[in-house]
Amino acid sequence: MKAEELEQLQIERLNPLEIEKSLEQRSLVFIPLGAIEWHGLHLPIGLDGLTSHGICLRVAHEIGGLVMPPLYYGMSASIWHHPYTILIEEEAVFIKILKTTLTRLEASGVQKVVIFTGHFALKQLQALDELKQEWTTIGKSLELHLFSIADCPKVGIEADHGAIFETSVLGELHPNLVKLENLPSKDLFPANDIDGNSKGDHRRDRDNVLFGILGDDPRNYNKETAATIFQQIIQWLVRSV
Ligand SMILES: [Zn+2]
Repeated sequence: MKAEELEQLQIERLNPLEIEKSLEQRSLVFIPLGAIEWHGLHLPIGLDGLTSHGICLRVAHEIGGLVMPPLYYGMSASIWHHPYTILIEEEAVFIKILKTTLTRLEASGVQKVVIFTGHFALKQLQALDELKQEWTTIGKSLELHLFSIADCPKVGIEADHGAIFETSVLGELHPNLVKLENLPSKDLFPANDIDGNSKGDHRRDRDNVLFGILGDDPRNYNKETAATIFQQIIQWLVRSV
């Protein structure tokens, strides 16, 4: 698939005639969600939106539909105090943006919307669940579906924060943005996870070799495993949407 083919699925790049032509084929719009947060020295702060956007574009390429630009403002998570982390604290602010988007897409005749979040902080997932509930009473014709990258079954690796899972997913979409060389050598500075707990408080210590990374050591990144994880996510969404 060519980059231009995916660009044609980005709704912000299209004029009304192009949008109508596409939605006539399938009246479906994806809203990818992300966050701006520290993901370790090896990953960009906008990882969650980069991955959700890239995944939505590939799913739309398979099954039809268009993709909204990613919302990079996500709701607060436990790492909110780490550098370059800019999250929304107030649920009402976050939800308002989405509700307005849904209302306007509905008014434009869109029949189905899929919110796909690459950022899965508990607070955000709860807020999205509430929105979905509320939409069943306030929505008129637009059907709303909700998926989190953390819910993909059979991936074999639990979704994490800046660790092997997120590094793998981004590596499939934007290999040039994964800079494992920014992390110290694994042989000289192995992860110091007590009892194999890779999500413990020690990772919140500024001096930890994997500071701000919650999950298994990303330095074990493997291209083949990454490709499998990525394909499973795409196939899961293609089946489920
Ligand atoms: Zn993330």
